[in-house]
Amino acid sequence: MAAENPDLLIVGGGPAGMMAGLLFARAGVKTLVLEKHGDFLRDFRGDTVHPSTLELMDELGLLGEFLERPHDEIRTLTARVADEKITIADLSHLPVKSRFVAMMPQWEFLDFIADKAKLYPAFSLYMNAQAAGLIEEHGRISGVTLADGSEIRPRLLTIAADGRSSILRAKSGLPLRDLGAPIDVLWFRLPKGASDYRETGGTFGSGTFIVQINRGDYWQCAYVVPKGAAADLEARGIEAFRNDVARAVPDLADVTGTLESWEQVKLLSVSLDRLEQWSKPGLLCIGDAAHAMSPVGGVGINLAIQDAVAAANILAAPLARGENADRLLEKVQERRMLPVKLIQGGQKLVHDRILTPLVVRKAVLDKVPFVLRLFKWFPILRRIPARVVGLGFRREHIHSPEA
Ligand SMILES: Cc1cc2nc3c(=O)[nH]c(=O)nc-3n(C[C@H](O)[C@H](O)[C@H](O)COP(=O)(O)OP(=O)(O)OC[C@H]3O[C@@H](n4cnc5c(N)ncnc54)[C@H](O)[C@@H]3O)c2cc1C
Repeated sequence: MAAENPDLLIVGGGPAGMMAGLLFARAGVKTLVLEKHGDFLRDFRGDTVHPSTLELMDELGLLGEFLERPHDEIRTLTARVADEKITIADLSHLPVKSRFVAMMPQWEFLDFIADKAKLYPAFSLYMNAQAAGLIEEHGRISGVTLADGSEIRPRLLTIAADGRSSILRAKSGLPLRDLGAPIDVLWFRLPKGASDYRETGGTFGSGTFIVQINRGDYWQCAYVVPKGAAADLEARGIEAFRNDVARAVPDLADVTGTLESWEQVKLLSVSLDRLEQWSKPGLLCIGDAAHAMSPVGGVGINLAIQDAVAAANILAAPLARGENADRLLEKVQERRMLPVKLIQGGQKLVHDRILTPLVVRKAVLDKVPFVLRLFKWFPILRRIPARVVGLGFRREHIHSPEA
Protein backbone atom coordinates (compact mmCIF):
# COMPACT_ATOMS: atom_id res chain seq x y z
CA MET A 1 0.00 0.00 0.00
CA ALA A 2 2.81 2.39 0.95
CA ALA A 3 4.58 1.55 -2.29
CA GLU A 4 1.57 2.34 -4.49
CA ASN A 5 0.51 5.54 -2.89
CA PRO A 6 3.17 6.83 -0.49
CA ASP A 7 2.72 9.84 1.74
CA LEU A 8 6.50 10.18 1.96
CA LEU A 9 9.09 9.33 -0.67
CA ILE A 10 12.71 8.95 0.48
CA VAL A 11 15.36 8.78 -2.23
CA GLY A 12 18.51 6.91 -1.14
CA GLY A 13 18.86 3.81 1.03
CA GLY A 14 22.02 4.84 2.91
CA PRO A 15 22.21 5.47 6.66
CA ALA A 16 20.12 8.68 6.46
CA GLY A 17 17.44 7.29 4.15
CA MET A 18 17.04 3.91 5.85
CA MET A 19 16.90 5.36 9.36
CA ALA A 20 14.38 7.97 8.20
CA GLY A 21 12.39 5.21 6.48
CA LEU A 22 12.27 3.17 9.68
CA LEU A 23 11.22 6.09 11.88
CA PHE A 24 8.54 7.54 9.59
CA ALA A 25 7.02 4.10 8.91
CA ARG A 26 7.13 3.40 12.65
CA ALA A 27 5.04 6.55 13.12
CA GLY A 28 2.50 5.24 10.61
CA VAL A 29 3.53 7.45 7.66
CA LYS A 30 3.18 5.51 4.38
CA THR A 31 6.84 5.61 3.36
CA LEU A 32 8.58 4.45 0.19
CA VAL A 33 12.40 4.33 0.06
CA LEU A 34 14.12 4.15 -3.33
CA GLU A 35 17.65 2.72 -3.57
CA LYS A 36 19.46 2.67 -6.89
CA HIS A 37 21.56 -0.41 -6.07
CA GLY A 38 20.21 -3.93 -5.97
CA ASP A 39 21.66 -4.62 -2.51
CA PHE A 40 23.51 -2.86 0.30
CA LEU A 41 26.82 -4.51 -0.60
CA ARG A 42 29.17 -2.00 -2.12
CA ASP A 43 32.56 -0.39 -1.75
CA PHE A 44 33.82 0.34 1.72
CA ARG A 45 32.42 3.66 2.85
CA GLY A 46 32.74 3.59 6.56
CA ASP A 47 31.79 0.91 9.03
CA THR A 48 31.48 3.05 12.11
CA VAL A 49 28.38 2.87 14.30
CA HIS A 50 28.94 5.49 16.96
CA PRO A 51 27.85 5.46 20.61
CA SER A 52 25.15 8.04 19.81
CA THR A 53 23.69 5.71 17.16
CA LEU A 54 23.92 2.78 19.57
CA GLU A 55 21.95 4.88 22.07
CA LEU A 56 19.27 5.40 19.42
CA MET A 57 19.16 1.64 18.90
CA ASP A 58 18.65 1.29 22.62
CA GLU A 59 15.85 3.88 22.60
CA LEU A 60 14.19 1.82 19.85
CA GLY A 61 14.60 -1.36 21.92
CA LEU A 62 16.92 -2.85 19.28
CA LEU A 63 20.37 -2.61 20.85
CA GLY A 64 20.78 -6.20 22.06
CA GLU A 65 19.70 -7.68 18.75
CA PHE A 66 21.81 -5.19 16.81
CA LEU A 67 24.97 -6.09 18.70
CA GLU A 68 24.41 -9.77 17.89
CA ARG A 69 25.44 -8.90 14.33
CA PRO A 70 29.18 -9.32 13.67
CA HIS A 71 31.14 -6.28 14.78
CA ASP A 72 34.37 -5.16 16.47
CA GLU A 73 34.46 -2.65 19.31
CA ILE A 74 36.82 0.32 19.36
CA ARG A 75 37.32 2.04 22.71
CA THR A 76 40.42 4.17 22.13
CA LEU A 77 42.07 6.01 19.25
CA THR A 78 45.83 6.24 19.03
CA ALA A 79 48.28 8.50 17.18
CA ARG A 80 51.76 7.30 16.29
CA VAL A 81 54.45 9.89 15.64
CA ALA A 82 58.18 9.27 15.47
CA ASP A 83 57.85 5.80 17.04
CA GLU A 84 55.84 7.15 19.97
CA LYS A 85 52.27 6.10 20.50
CA ILE A 86 49.77 8.41 22.19
CA THR A 87 46.15 7.68 23.07
CA ILE A 88 44.17 10.68 21.86
CA ALA A 89 40.59 9.51 22.51
CA ASP A 90 39.18 7.31 25.24
CA LEU A 91 35.50 6.45 24.96
CA SER A 92 35.29 4.60 28.25
CA HIS A 93 33.96 7.68 30.11
CA LEU A 94 31.11 8.58 27.78
CA PRO A 95 27.77 9.01 29.60
CA VAL A 96 26.05 6.29 27.55
CA LYS A 97 25.43 2.55 27.70
CA SER A 98 27.71 1.56 24.81
CA ARG A 99 31.08 3.21 25.34
CA PHE A 100 32.62 2.11 22.07
CA VAL A 101 32.37 2.56 18.33
CA ALA A 102 30.89 -0.61 16.84
CA MET A 103 32.73 -1.42 13.62
CA MET A 104 30.11 -3.16 11.54
CA PRO A 105 30.11 -3.46 7.76
CA GLN A 106 27.72 -0.83 6.47
CA TRP A 107 25.66 -3.43 4.60
CA GLU A 108 25.04 -5.29 7.88
CA PHE A 109 23.89 -2.06 9.48
CA LEU A 110 21.60 -1.14 6.57
CA ASP A 111 20.29 -4.67 6.30
CA PHE A 112 19.40 -4.65 9.99
CA ILE A 113 17.55 -1.33 9.68
CA ALA A 114 15.74 -2.58 6.56
CA ASP A 115 14.66 -5.77 8.37
CA LYS A 116 13.25 -3.75 11.25
CA ALA A 117 11.56 -1.20 8.97
CA LYS A 118 9.85 -3.98 6.99
CA LEU A 119 8.04 -5.04 10.15
CA TYR A 120 5.93 -1.88 9.79
CA PRO A 121 3.15 -2.17 7.18
CA ALA A 122 3.65 1.50 6.27
CA PHE A 123 7.19 0.79 4.97
CA SER A 124 8.22 -0.13 1.45
CA LEU A 125 11.63 -0.32 -0.16
CA TYR A 126 12.30 -0.43 -3.91
CA MET A 127 15.81 -1.59 -4.79
CA ASN A 128 17.26 -0.99 -8.27
CA ALA A 129 15.20 2.20 -8.40
CA GLN A 130 17.19 5.26 -9.43
CA ALA A 131 15.74 8.73 -9.19
CA ALA A 132 16.71 10.92 -12.15
CA GLY A 133 14.97 14.22 -11.53
CA LEU A 134 12.41 16.24 -9.63
CA ILE A 135 8.85 17.00 -10.63
CA GLU A 136 7.99 20.60 -9.81
CA GLU A 137 4.43 21.87 -10.10
CA HIS A 138 3.13 25.27 -9.07
CA GLY A 139 6.36 26.10 -7.21
CA ARG A 140 6.31 22.87 -5.16
CA ILE A 141 8.21 19.59 -5.55
CA SER A 142 5.54 16.95 -6.08
CA GLY A 143 7.71 13.90 -6.74
CA VAL A 144 10.56 12.40 -8.75
CA THR A 145 11.16 10.92 -12.16
CA LEU A 146 13.02 7.61 -12.27
CA ALA A 147 15.77 6.53 -14.65
CA ASP A 148 13.27 4.17 -16.35
CA GLY A 149 11.04 7.14 -17.18
CA SER A 150 8.36 6.42 -14.57
CA GLU A 151 7.22 8.94 -11.96
CA ILE A 152 6.46 8.71 -8.26
CA ARG A 153 4.38 11.42 -6.61
CA PRO A 154 4.15 11.13 -2.83
CA ARG A 155 1.09 12.71 -1.25
CA LEU A 156 2.99 14.86 1.25
CA LEU A 157 6.80 15.06 0.96
CA THR A 158 10.00 13.95 -0.81
CA ILE A 159 13.20 13.54 1.19
CA ALA A 160 16.53 13.54 -0.68
CA ALA A 161 18.96 11.22 1.12
CA ASP A 162 20.89 10.28 -1.99
CA GLY A 163 24.35 11.07 -0.66
CA ARG A 164 27.09 13.51 -1.50
CA SER A 165 26.62 13.28 -5.28
CA SER A 166 22.90 13.84 -4.79
CA ILE A 167 21.14 14.21 -8.10
CA LEU A 168 18.08 15.65 -6.35
CA ARG A 169 20.01 18.40 -4.62
CA ALA A 170 21.65 19.27 -7.96
CA LYS A 171 18.27 19.44 -9.67
CA SER A 172 16.69 21.39 -6.81
CA GLY A 173 18.86 24.46 -7.36
CA LEU A 174 19.25 24.84 -3.59
CA PRO A 175 22.33 27.00 -2.81
CA LEU A 176 25.47 24.97 -2.06
CA ARG A 177 28.53 26.19 -0.18
CA ASP A 178 31.71 24.32 -1.12
CA LEU A 179 34.29 24.44 1.68
CA GLY A 180 36.94 22.72 -0.46
CA ALA A 181 39.06 19.71 0.47
CA PRO A 182 42.82 19.48 -0.12
CA ILE A 183 42.95 15.69 0.19
CA ASP A 184 41.71 12.44 -1.23
CA VAL A 185 41.87 9.06 0.48
CA LEU A 186 42.93 5.65 -0.79
CA TRP A 187 41.25 2.79 1.09
CA PHE A 188 42.54 -0.76 1.15
CA ARG A 189 42.77 -3.81 3.38
CA LEU A 190 45.88 -5.49 4.67
CA PRO A 191 46.12 -8.70 6.67
CA LYS A 192 47.59 -8.61 10.16
CA GLY A 193 51.34 -9.23 10.00
CA ALA A 194 53.99 -10.21 12.51
CA SER A 195 53.78 -6.94 14.44
CA ASP A 196 51.79 -7.06 17.67
CA TYR A 197 50.64 -3.44 17.19
CA ARG A 198 46.83 -3.54 17.21
CA GLU A 199 45.66 0.03 17.93
CA THR A 200 43.10 1.84 15.80
CA GLY A 201 44.34 5.29 14.83
CA GLY A 202 46.71 7.20 12.62
CA THR A 203 50.43 7.13 11.91
CA PHE A 204 52.01 10.49 11.09
CA GLY A 205 55.16 10.08 9.03
CA SER A 206 57.32 12.37 6.96
CA GLY A 207 54.90 13.65 4.37
CA THR A 208 52.52 10.77 5.02
CA PHE A 209 49.45 10.00 7.11
CA ILE A 210 47.89 6.55 7.29
CA VAL A 211 44.86 5.51 9.34
CA GLN A 212 44.63 1.89 10.43
CA ILE A 213 41.35 0.50 11.71
CA ASN A 214 41.65 -2.79 13.56
CA ARG A 215 39.03 -5.10 12.00
CA GLY A 216 39.86 -8.37 13.75
CA ASP A 217 41.90 -10.37 11.30
CA TYR A 218 42.70 -7.47 8.96
CA TRP A 219 43.50 -3.75 8.88
CA GLN A 220 41.24 -1.33 7.06
CA CYS A 221 43.71 1.32 5.93
CA ALA A 222 43.25 4.87 4.69
CA TYR A 223 46.20 6.49 2.94
CA VAL A 224 45.77 10.25 2.67
CA VAL A 225 47.03 11.86 -0.56
CA PRO A 226 46.89 15.40 -1.97
CA LYS A 227 43.70 16.06 -3.94
CA GLY A 228 44.00 14.71 -7.46
CA ALA A 229 47.28 12.86 -6.77
CA ALA A 230 45.82 9.36 -7.02
CA ALA A 231 46.20 9.20 -10.82
CA ASP A 232 49.96 9.94 -10.57
CA LEU A 233 50.35 7.32 -7.86
CA GLU A 234 48.57 4.77 -9.99
CA ALA A 235 50.80 5.65 -12.95
CA ARG A 236 53.87 4.88 -10.81
CA GLY A 237 52.57 1.36 -10.33
CA ILE A 238 51.35 -0.75 -7.43
CA GLU A 239 54.86 -1.71 -6.34
CA ALA A 240 55.82 1.92 -5.76
CA PHE A 241 52.63 2.32 -3.73
CA ARG A 242 53.42 -0.76 -1.65
CA ASN A 243 56.83 0.76 -0.91
CA ASP A 244 55.24 4.10 0.07
CA VAL A 245 52.97 2.31 2.55
CA ALA A 246 55.82 0.24 3.97
CA ARG A 247 57.97 3.37 4.41
CA ALA A 248 55.12 5.23 6.12
CA VAL A 249 54.29 2.36 8.50
CA PRO A 250 57.28 0.01 8.71
CA ASP A 251 55.40 -2.62 10.72
CA LEU A 252 53.09 -3.13 7.71
CA ALA A 253 56.05 -3.88 5.42
CA ASP A 254 55.63 -7.66 5.73
CA VAL A 255 52.01 -7.54 4.49
CA THR A 256 52.01 -4.87 1.76
CA GLY A 257 52.86 -7.62 -0.74
CA THR A 258 49.19 -8.67 -0.57
CA LEU A 259 48.34 -5.51 -2.53
CA GLU A 260 48.68 -7.00 -5.97
CA SER A 261 46.70 -4.56 -8.10
CA TRP A 262 44.94 -1.21 -8.01
CA GLU A 263 41.65 -3.14 -7.98
CA GLN A 264 42.28 -3.59 -4.25
CA VAL A 265 42.66 0.16 -3.67
CA LYS A 266 39.56 2.40 -3.70
CA LEU A 267 39.75 6.13 -4.20
CA LEU A 268 37.55 8.36 -2.03
CA SER A 269 37.40 11.78 -3.58
CA VAL A 270 36.91 13.89 -0.47
CA SER A 271 34.43 16.74 -0.53
CA LEU A 272 33.32 19.11 2.17
CA ASP A 273 30.24 21.15 1.42
CA ARG A 274 26.78 22.01 2.69
CA LEU A 275 23.53 23.39 1.43
CA GLU A 276 22.77 26.84 2.76
CA GLN A 277 19.11 25.97 2.46
CA TRP A 278 18.11 22.33 3.00
CA SER A 279 14.53 22.48 1.80
CA LYS A 280 11.98 24.01 -0.50
CA PRO A 281 8.25 23.32 -0.58
CA GLY A 282 7.75 19.57 -0.94
CA LEU A 283 11.46 18.66 -0.64
CA LEU A 284 13.91 18.20 2.24
CA CYS A 285 17.59 17.17 1.93
CA ILE A 286 19.30 15.25 4.76
CA GLY A 287 22.58 13.42 5.38
CA ASP A 288 25.41 13.82 2.88
CA ALA A 289 22.89 15.22 0.38
CA ALA A 290 22.62 18.26 2.66
CA HIS A 291 26.26 18.28 3.83
CA ALA A 292 29.05 16.12 2.39
CA MET A 293 31.49 15.28 5.16
CA SER A 294 35.23 14.65 5.11
CA PRO A 295 36.26 11.24 6.48
CA VAL A 296 38.21 13.08 9.23
CA GLY A 297 36.86 11.76 12.52
CA GLY A 298 34.68 9.19 10.74
CA VAL A 299 31.47 10.96 11.67
CA GLY A 300 29.50 11.20 8.39
CA ILE A 301 27.28 8.20 9.13
CA ASN A 302 26.55 9.49 12.59
CA LEU A 303 25.51 12.92 11.33
CA ALA A 304 23.37 11.39 8.59
CA ILE A 305 21.50 9.31 11.17
CA GLN A 306 21.07 12.26 13.52
CA ASP A 307 19.51 14.22 10.63
CA ALA A 308 17.06 11.37 10.04
CA VAL A 309 16.07 11.32 13.71
CA ALA A 310 15.63 15.10 13.82
CA ALA A 311 13.53 15.01 10.63
CA ALA A 312 11.28 12.31 12.10
CA ASN A 313 11.00 14.12 15.45
CA ILE A 314 9.82 17.27 13.70
CA LEU A 315 7.79 15.89 10.80
CA ALA A 316 6.52 12.38 11.57
CA ALA A 317 3.51 13.34 13.70
CA PRO A 318 2.06 15.92 11.28
CA LEU A 319 2.72 13.65 8.28
CA ALA A 320 1.07 10.74 10.08
CA ARG A 321 -2.01 12.98 10.52
CA GLY A 322 -1.93 13.55 6.76
CA GLU A 323 -0.93 17.22 7.09
CA ASN A 324 1.23 19.18 4.68
CA ALA A 325 4.42 19.82 6.69
CA ASP A 326 6.14 22.27 4.31
CA ARG A 327 6.15 25.03 6.93
CA LEU A 328 8.13 22.76 9.28
CA LEU A 329 10.90 21.77 6.87
CA GLU A 330 13.12 24.70 7.80
CA LYS A 331 13.04 23.52 11.42
CA VAL A 332 15.06 20.43 10.48
CA GLN A 333 17.82 22.65 9.12
CA GLU A 334 17.56 24.97 12.14
CA ARG A 335 18.03 21.97 14.41
CA ARG A 336 20.91 20.32 12.52
CA MET A 337 22.92 23.18 11.01
CA LEU A 338 24.86 23.97 14.18
CA PRO A 339 26.28 20.44 14.65
CA VAL A 340 27.09 20.27 10.94
CA LYS A 341 28.92 23.61 11.04
CA LEU A 342 30.85 22.66 14.16
CA ILE A 343 31.96 19.28 12.79
CA GLN A 344 32.77 20.64 9.34
CA GLY A 345 34.69 23.51 10.98
CA GLY A 346 36.75 20.96 12.93
CA GLN A 347 37.33 18.89 9.79
CA LYS A 348 38.45 21.98 7.88
CA LEU A 349 40.84 22.85 10.69
CA VAL A 350 42.38 19.37 10.50
CA HIS A 351 42.59 19.67 6.68
CA ASP A 352 44.27 23.09 6.82
CA ARG A 353 46.47 22.82 9.92
CA ILE A 354 47.51 19.16 9.92
CA LEU A 355 46.89 17.36 6.64
CA THR A 356 47.85 20.13 4.21
CA PRO A 357 51.27 20.83 5.80
CA LEU A 358 51.94 17.13 6.26
CA VAL A 359 50.62 15.46 3.15
CA VAL A 360 50.40 18.27 0.58
CA ARG A 361 53.52 20.25 1.53
CA LYS A 362 55.35 17.10 2.74
CA ALA A 363 56.44 18.43 6.12
CA VAL A 364 58.88 16.26 8.03
CA LEU A 365 57.44 15.28 11.40
CA ASP A 366 60.32 13.89 13.46
CA LYS A 367 59.00 14.63 16.95
CA VAL A 368 55.65 14.55 18.70
CA PRO A 369 53.89 17.94 18.37
CA PHE A 370 53.16 19.76 21.63
CA VAL A 371 49.38 19.39 21.22
CA LEU A 372 49.66 15.61 21.07
CA ARG A 373 51.98 15.57 24.09
CA LEU A 374 49.19 17.18 26.12
CA PHE A 375 47.12 14.00 25.68
CA LYS A 376 49.96 12.03 27.21
CA TRP A 377 50.47 14.38 30.15
CA PHE A 378 46.78 14.99 30.88
CA PRO A 379 44.80 11.80 30.08
CA ILE A 380 41.56 13.58 30.98
CA LEU A 381 41.91 15.50 27.70
CA ARG A 382 41.29 12.23 25.83
CA ARG A 383 37.65 12.56 26.81
CA ILE A 384 37.18 15.59 24.53
CA PRO A 385 37.84 13.93 21.14
CA ALA A 386 35.97 10.86 22.43
CA ARG A 387 32.92 13.00 23.11
CA VAL A 388 33.09 14.85 19.77
CA VAL A 389 33.56 11.67 17.73
CA GLY A 390 31.34 9.42 19.84
CA LEU A 391 28.39 11.68 20.54
CA GLY A 392 28.83 14.77 18.37
CA PHE A 393 27.01 17.99 19.18
CA ARG A 394 23.31 18.47 19.94
CA ARG A 395 22.60 14.76 20.20
CA GLU A 396 19.18 13.60 18.99
CA HIS A 397 16.84 11.25 20.82
CA ILE A 398 13.85 9.42 19.41
CA HIS A 399 10.73 11.52 20.04
CA SER A 400 8.79 10.52 16.94
CA PRO A 401 5.68 8.49 17.76
CA GLU A 402 5.19 4.76 17.23
CA ALA A 403 1.84 4.10 15.58
C1 LIG B 1 35.34 5.51 1.37
C2 LIG B 1 34.52 6.20 2.43
C3 LIG B 1 34.81 6.01 3.75
C4 LIG B 1 34.06 6.62 4.75
N1 LIG B 1 34.33 6.35 6.04
C5 LIG B 1 33.50 6.78 7.00
C6 LIG B 1 33.63 6.35 8.34
O1 LIG B 1 34.54 5.60 8.69
N2 LIG B 1 32.74 6.79 9.25
C7 LIG B 1 31.72 7.62 8.91
O2 LIG B 1 30.92 7.99 9.80
N3 LIG B 1 31.57 8.07 7.66
C8 LIG B 1 32.41 7.64 6.68
N4 LIG B 1 32.22 8.03 5.39
C9 LIG B 1 31.14 8.95 5.10
C10 LIG B 1 29.83 8.22 5.14
O3 LIG B 1 29.85 7.10 4.26
C11 LIG B 1 28.73 9.19 4.74
O4 LIG B 1 28.82 10.41 5.45
C12 LIG B 1 27.38 8.56 5.05
O5 LIG B 1 27.28 7.32 4.40
C13 LIG B 1 26.25 9.48 4.62
O6 LIG B 1 25.05 8.78 4.68
P1 LIG B 1 23.87 9.16 3.68
O7 LIG B 1 22.79 8.19 3.94
O8 LIG B 1 23.58 10.60 3.77
O9 LIG B 1 24.49 8.97 2.21
P2 LIG B 1 25.08 7.65 1.53
O10 LIG B 1 25.62 6.72 2.50
O11 LIG B 1 25.93 8.12 0.42
O12 LIG B 1 23.77 6.95 0.94
C14 LIG B 1 23.13 7.46 -0.19
C15 LIG B 1 22.36 6.31 -0.81
O13 LIG B 1 21.58 6.82 -1.88
C16 LIG B 1 21.71 5.95 -2.99
N5 LIG B 1 21.47 6.78 -4.17
C17 LIG B 1 22.32 7.71 -4.68
N6 LIG B 1 21.75 8.31 -5.72
C18 LIG B 1 20.53 7.73 -5.88
C19 LIG B 1 19.47 7.94 -6.80
N7 LIG B 1 19.56 8.84 -7.78
N8 LIG B 1 18.35 7.19 -6.68
C20 LIG B 1 18.26 6.26 -5.69
N9 LIG B 1 19.24 6.03 -4.79
C21 LIG B 1 20.34 6.77 -4.89
C22 LIG B 1 23.12 5.41 -2.88
O14 LIG B 1 23.25 4.21 -3.58
C23 LIG B 1 23.26 5.23 -1.39
O15 LIG B 1 22.82 3.99 -0.94
C24 LIG B 1 32.99 7.46 4.39
C25 LIG B 1 32.70 7.68 3.06
C26 LIG B 1 33.44 7.04 2.07
C27 LIG B 1 33.07 7.26 0.62
